[in-house]
Amino acid sequence: MSRLVDGFGRRFWYLRVSITEVCNFRCTYCLPDGYRKEGPLSFMSPLEVERVVRAFADTGVCKVRLTGGEPSVRKDLPEIIARVAQTPGINKVCLTTNGWNLERQVAGWREAGLTNVNVSIDSLDPAAFHRITGHDRLESVVRGLDKALALGVPTVKVNGVLLKEGAQDGFEAFAEFVRERPIAMRFIELMRTGDNAQYFADQHVPGSRLTDWLEARGWTKRERAFDDGPAFEYAQPDYAGRIGLIAPYAPGFCDSCNRLRITARGQLRLCLFGELGVNLRDLLQKDEPEALHARITAALAGKPKGHRLHEQVSGDTRHLAQFGG
Ligand code: SAM
Ligand code: SF4
Repeated sequence: MSRLVDGFGRRFWYLRVSITEVCNFRCTYCLPDGYRKEGPLSFMSPLEVERVVRAFADTGVCKVRLTGGEPSVRKDLPEIIARVAQTPGINKVCLTTNGWNLERQVAGWREAGLTNVNVSIDSLDPAAFHRITGHDRLESVVRGLDKALALGVPTVKVNGVLLKEGAQDGFEAFAEFVRERPIAMRFIELMRTGDNAQYFADQHVPGSRLTDWLEARGWTKRERAFDDGPAFEYAQPDYAGRIGLIAPYAPGFCDSCNRLRITARGQLRLCLFGELGVNLRDLLQKDEPEALHARITAALAGKPKGHRLHEQVSGDTRHLAQFGG
């Protein structure tokens, strides 16, 4: 059991590590004008990632997700995966990716020790995918996902942002997508960030739009397992896969928060929508495990009870590529 506990009794066994702020996509809700360099590109080295993961694994963290920006723009991603996978205590090494080079790279990532991959696909309509991401790559992304399944990556999931444009058609298309594929497709309710206020006003739809649609078609909510994360998943006997919803605006969303975040520059973020972070970089560069442990434990006392998105407060989060979502 994790020994990291915050002031509200929540235990932390899941660490999300951003390894870059750079992204090659231009998702309309995240980086509509593409990635713009801010300050020097001094992201954690594979050794620094290993050190921070080891520090958390020593306290009972067992699951690590690599994210970004787009984590697969880093050429040393296989080395990073391998270092995390070899860390004692870590049994799940997960990656969130936009899938642009999944088809070419997934075999190497699997060999390095990847156990879970979440592929972001907001629409199964090639033209809408192109419009949303800036890239006409839907077919290659789907081939990459099918390759991950064929290679036996233990958990493959799809994440799609729930957008007003195409919501209803999207539900039908994704249900068809999981008819034969034994995967979970989870819609994420669009979150308001510092940069996307107008987009949010135009495109946000409540998660109930999806759950009403599912329930009207015989999909039923599954019991949640201990390590399910924030998604509610629905199943239907005619479908091999499941459809889920991540609803950050739902009451109680933060009560079972089990995750902490490390930014690509080596800061500990206590809440995705908080303010500032606690710098760990100096201790990662020097390998000082005891001081690192002390700083992490002290920082946890400051973890807020919940985000304040309902009050239109998204902390200093301008877009999710900044900290990994
Ligand atoms: N680039 C990778 C990708 O897109 O999968 C990893 C980083 S991305 C920030 C992580 C996830 O956050 C993606 O599934 C993306 O769709 C989601 N996301 C980004 N901005 C969002 C927002 N404003 N509201 C909800 N989800 C968002
Ligand atoms: Fe890039 Fe992911 Fe943001 Fe899309 S959601 S712009 S792929 S970081």
